[in-house]
Amino acid sequence: MAEKDCIFCKIANGEIPSATIYENSDFRVILDVAPANRGHALIIPREHFKDIFDIDALTAGKLFSLATEVARAMKSVLHCDGMNIVQNNGIVAGQTVFHFHLHLIPRYENDNVNIGWQPGDSTPGELQELAKEIRKKI
Ligand code: 5GP
Ligand code: ZN
Repeated sequence: MAEKDCIFCKIANGEIPSATIYENSDFRVILDVAPANRGHALIIPREHFKDIFDIDALTAGKLFSLATEVARAMKSVLHCDGMNIVQNNGIVAGQTVFHFHLHLIPRYENDNVNIGWQPGDSTPGELQELAKEIRKKI
């Protein structure tokens, strides 16, 4: 169901034009209007899901399956040296459009794209304890 005032609902359904790489009944794949690098693409479900916490597993699975095909097509055209798959959830994580989307960001040697974090510290006991807590919820 389209969400009123959601730009990605409008793009996914073709109401707002976009540079479309591919589309099927579930998804539209477009080029990002403000690319981190040449060829930066987005896979957008036609249905409105806010984020990873909202999307169903079946759609997410189909989306990632499509991502493998799109990534290979992009690599063959762009001749990129690598690719980051990024997916932001929540303002704190950098999400700016609140309709689930997957970023495919081609990487080129010596580009200036920054995706990363500083490695932190952990102890084996702490990791085991936390893994156990989360496992209970799956
Ligand atoms: P987020 O920050 O939510 O993970 O990513 C949103 C992405 O959507 C950004 O990279 C931004 O450039 C892109 N974007 C926002 N509005 C439009 C638009 O109207 N058209 C296209 N093609 N991309 C958009
Ligand atoms: Zn939407």
